[in-house]
Amino acid sequence: MSKPLALELDNRTNYLADKGKYETSVNGVFAAGDCRRGQSLVVWAINEGREAAREIDRYLMKSTTLLG
Ligand SMILES: Cc1cc2nc3c(=O)[nH]c(=O)nc-3n(C[C@H](O)[C@H](O)[C@H](O)COP(=O)(O)OP(=O)(O)OC[C@H]3O[C@@H](n4cnc5c(N)ncnc54)[C@H](O)[C@@H]3O)c2cc1C
Repeated sequence: MSKPLALELDNRTNYLADKGKYETSVNGVFAAGDCRRGQSLVVWAINEGREAAREIDRYLMKSTTLLG
């Protein structure tokens, strides 16, 4: 069985990751949407998902053309 990731949490027990960057305390692991900001609106989840995709692309490719 795989071991759970030891992601750092914020003071509201969501995964700790800065808005705009989305990288957690574990290198290469990103968090966006409700698990990062807490329960919210679907428009925010969509917005963060798009921005996180951009940051993941940048992480993997060293640059990105995604607008987020
Ligand atoms: C009852 C209810 C009503 C709502 N009504 C509204 C509304 O009217 N308008 C509005 O704007 N917002 C509403 N929301 C909020 C909105 O649904 C959320 O903000 C949005 O869905 C968050 O999207 P997300 O992708 O961050 O998370 P989620 O939609 O929760 O997606 C997370 C996904 O991860 C999966 N997952 C979890 N753990 C694991 C795991 N270990 N491995 C693999 N997959 C995993 C889950 O199955 C889920 O599919 C409502 C929420 C609830 C609960």
